[in-house]
Amino acid sequence: MRAPETLAHVLVIDDDPGMRKMLGAALRREAFVVDEAADGLSALERFRQQVPDLIVLDVQMPGMDGFATCRALRSMPGGRTLPIMVMTGSDEPDAVARAYEAGATDFISKPFHPRLLQDRVRFLLRAVGAFERLRRSERHLAIAQRIARLGNWVLELSAGRLECSGEAMRLMGLSVEPRTYADLHQHVLADDRDRTLSAFARALDRREGYDLRYRIPEEGGEQGHRWVQEHGEFVQDADAGETLLIGTVHDITEQVQSQRRIQELAFQDVVTGRANRARFTAALEAAVVHAAAVSTPLAVLFVDLDRFKRINDTLGHTTGDQLLRSAADRLEQVLHEHALGGEALLARLGGDEFAVLAPGVGEDELSLELARRLIAALEVPFVVGEYELVVSASVGIARYPIDGADAETLLRRADAAMYEVKDSGGNNVRVFNRSQRDGADERLWLEASLRKALDRGEFELYYQPKIDLQTNQFVSTEALIRWRHPERGLISPGWFIPLAEETGLIVPIGEWVLKQACKQQAAWMAMGLPLESVAVNLSVKQLSLRNLTGLVQQALDDAHLPADALELEVTESMVMRDVTSAVATLARLKQIGVGIAIDDFGTGHASLRYLREFPVDTLKIDRAFVDGVCKDTDSAAIAEMIIKLGHLLGLKTVAEGIEQEDQRDYLARGGCNVGQGYLFSPPVPAPRLEALLRARLAS
Ligand code: C2E
Ligand code: MG
Ligand code: MG
Repeated sequence: MRAPETLAHVLVIDDDPGMRKMLGAALRREAFVVDEAADGLSALERFRQQVPDLIVLDVQMPGMDGFATCRALRSMPGGRTLPIMVMTGSDEPDAVARAYEAGATDFISKPFHPRLLQDRVRFLLRAVGAFERLRRSERHLAIAQRIARLGNWVLELSAGRLECSGEAMRLMGLSVEPRTYADLHQHVLADDRDRTLSAFARALDRREGYDLRYRIPEEGGEQGHRWVQEHGEFVQDADAGETLLIGTVHDITEQVQSQRRIQELAFQDVVTGRANRARFTAALEAAVVHAAAVSTPLAVLFVDLDRFKRINDTLGHTTGDQLLRSAADRLEQVLHEHALGGEALLARLGGDEFAVLAPGVGEDELSLELARRLIAALEVPFVVGEYELVVSASVGIARYPIDGADAETLLRRADAAMYEVKDSGGNNVRVFNRSQRDGADERLWLEASLRKALDRGEFELYYQPKIDLQTNQFVSTEALIRWRHPERGLISPGWFIPLAEETGLIVPIGEWVLKQACKQQAAWMAMGLPLESVAVNLSVKQLSLRNLTGLVQQALDDAHLPADALELEVTESMVMRDVTSAVATLARLKQIGVGIAIDDFGTGHASLRYLREFPVDTLKIDRAFVDGVCKDTDSAAIAEMIIKLGHLLGLKTVAEGIEQEDQRDYLARGGCNVGQGYLFSPPVPAPRLEALLRARLAS
């Protein structure tokens, strides 16, 4: 780096000793370090020994003149960018031009005042310093641009002249500096060029900034082209008094590629590499639009492997995953053979569920034929590692437009048809049954998703506190199931419990509830919360299970919960269906120590005769009577009677559905032991119940 200009080293070359002396003195006064040479050759020698910061050179010298000396200096190491000030005599009219030609930086004509020389030298040194700094920063900028893969250019709009950085040229695939915007874009991929140029024209027209993305062919690149993002902005250059368009070009190939990859992954099933549910749904939606436009049918086939869960559970997920991949390969093969190859789409929707979108397939026979081939392809045993695995498949079909007019309906109906196959033993195919279409539709859908809800962990337990009406303390809770459906949100048990009972699904669901509630109660007791017990509702199906006592015992054991911390609620009407067997079952349950409550009491017409025989601990007064205690005398009379009856038989009474204080007060006065209802709290998730209880304990 050049020393500060006051310490700059100046070489004066002049054959006239008097002149040298005068110049030397003038420069030294300005604190320059001055060296002198009397002719060209000795000047070159001096230069070789030490490169000065500036040269003052006379043109008229005997032997090697100033022009020759200047040229020689320029070709020496360190001489290319050195400032050389040439002194010309007034008697040589073309000396200035010749001096520049020889490489002079500046000139001064003799005679001159020493003061002028001082000024010119100082100015020249400063200018050269600034120039040097500019070049350095340009060099650094170029390196930075290369690292960032970011180039820039400036277009003077009035002249149409373009200036372009080296990196911009590289990115645009140019080896010759472009002069116009069109030049700059000459290598843009033909497919992108029209779009790009018209967007540019529009921006130019409106004088509005713009962003473009296009491709530039790239030899040896992964895809044969690179992606470039161009950003342009119009800038008013006050100094030049004109508008400039300043642009950047950025290599975004990597960004585009990783974006693609992310997109692909979002639409791809990781296990089989096939389309996933999201992609299938999107493709089906598009296919329906297309089919509608050209009036062709299409079929959706739901393919579910029959005994897959068992394989997964016994042989492990690795084997299961391999089986899924092989199954996908075979299904794909069938689509190819069916000459549907390119058109059809195979997807894995999750678990052991596959779906096929078959455009153009509409008639019953065609779609059935395809389904049978899919089933047949899976029938050949699979060899996975050391195992030979036999699976079969159940296929449900729904077609556009007969069975449904939109993607969602088609999928749902194909799914429902598939479940019908499953219900009748699997390994078969069925087309969606048109006669069921209307009323039963919702039910079918509910049923299909209910079957999956347990595996997918969509059930939750809420807990509603029960309050001792005399002390006003939380004493226990009732567990109430909730179904958090991914699309429909919370579904209340009133909706799905009857269906679960009808389909038998209530058995596994009920078992889950039992286990979950026992675990929760055990956790609360371990935390030291003053909750005596948790109540679990039993369904009529569960009550008739032969191993019910075993299941209950198992749930207690698993949770390490004492039997008296669990209460089972059965409705009065359930018990009345088959009194003898219900009484036997309840007796067995009581024997292991759990509490029994009769739910919704007062509505099931239990006669007093039976009531004495029921091995129960608690009567829960039905909400209907609680609701009416302060409104109608009948309800009040029944509620009172149940409380009295309870006392008489030595049973605890619980009033459910207390919503108002006057209801609570009435029941408390009447001697009812426990209350439950929105007045105290609606059913809430476990953590919320803990918070409520803690707040109450604190107050
Ligand atoms: P339930 O056993 O009689 O439960 C009481 C129902 O009354 C609950 O409805 C509860 O949310 C509601 N409730 C509580 N306090 C009030 C109130 O102050 N006002 C009003 N209007 N309602 C109140 P939910 O949770 O919708 O349950 C409905 C029924 O579904 C239950 O009636 C029970 O028979 C059944 N159920 C719930 N969970 C299960 C379960 O895990 N297994 C079985 N088998 N059945 C269940
Ligand atoms: Mg209940
Ligand atoms: Mg009830």
